[in-house]
Amino acid sequence: MRIKKVAVLGAGIMGAGIAQVLALGGYSVILRDLQIALVKDGLHTIDQNLDKMLSTGLIDEQQKQESLSLIHGATDLAELCDVDLVIEAVVENMAVKKQIFAELDHLCSEHTILATNTSSLSITEIASATHRPEKVLGMHFFNPVASMKLVEIVKGMDTDQESVDLAIEFIKRIEKHPVLVQRESPGFIVNRILVPCINEAIFVYGEGLAEKEDIDTAMKLGAGMPYGPLEMADFMGLDVLYALLLVFYDEFRDTKYRPHTILSTMIRAGYWGQKSGRGFYKYNFK
Ligand code: NAD
Repeated sequence: MRIKKVAVLGAGIMGAGIAQVLALGGYSVILRDLQIALVKDGLHTIDQNLDKMLSTGLIDEQQKQESLSLIHGATDLAELCDVDLVIEAVVENMAVKKQIFAELDHLCSEHTILATNTSSLSITEIASATHRPEKVLGMHFFNPVASMKLVEIVKGMDTDQESVDLAIEFIKRIEKHPVLVQRESPGFIVNRILVPCINEAIFVYGEGLAEKEDIDTAMKLGAGMPYGPLEMADFMGLDVLYALLLVFYDEFRDTKYRPHTILSTMIRAGYWGQKSGRGFYKYNFK
């Protein structure tokens, strides 16, 4: 089987980014959200992103127009009946994702692969809402999708090799770099390593060992990180970081994943990072 037609569910930050990358790779994409206004917002974001690529010479006007013509906005799930691959990028909520996967299982043809972009939920549990757990897998893109090369392909308990091979080939075709996570586990590879690292930096800060700027500078100049861990916490969103730590803490029952109390205090104060204008640092663009 070759993957030709793809649907992306959710036209938010990740869904719009994924649809953009797929269209630039020549794939026909249905971008579906719950309301037409949300679909239009997603299409508008893509248009703006393509304009930026145009202005920096990464694409030309013809490529922009061709890409836009390949993306078809939709609100009706029934439009997905003939796609080969669905990439789900809706809100990070197990009940919502299971409901969607059950509907997709009913609607899509037998060969359709159902992928989820979840960052922290169990692929196996999402797959349990379908009668095709062998065709369900994690396809974890990173933010911002247009510039981040990595995609983690994650096997659930019953994902079969054929689906994994097709997913890996597909990711290579859109010029991303796939890595295979052989067995699902919270945080997969990147977040499993990165999130505890950021939490440790928060402990160093919370214990008063160094100023925040010095912690970030130390990790940039001493460990070769492109961004300091506290800068990364602000970019990721302190609420998202906290939620990920709690997932690790609950699943592994290991105190090494406990969030520092300074993190919960900051969240209660509305310090969510860049998106709220205040995290470890202050931001003026909000
Ligand atoms: P977002 O809130 O920006 O977008 C989610 C979109 O899904 C919204 O537009 C919402 O209206 C839509 N939606 C909700 N229910 C829907 C349904 N039934 N059908 C279609 N659309 C529906 O969220 P996001 O940041 O794009 O995250 C989406 C997924 O990607 C989550 O699972 C998240 O964990 C994962 N993820 C996020 C990031 C990130 O940095 N934001 C990175 C990697 C993975």
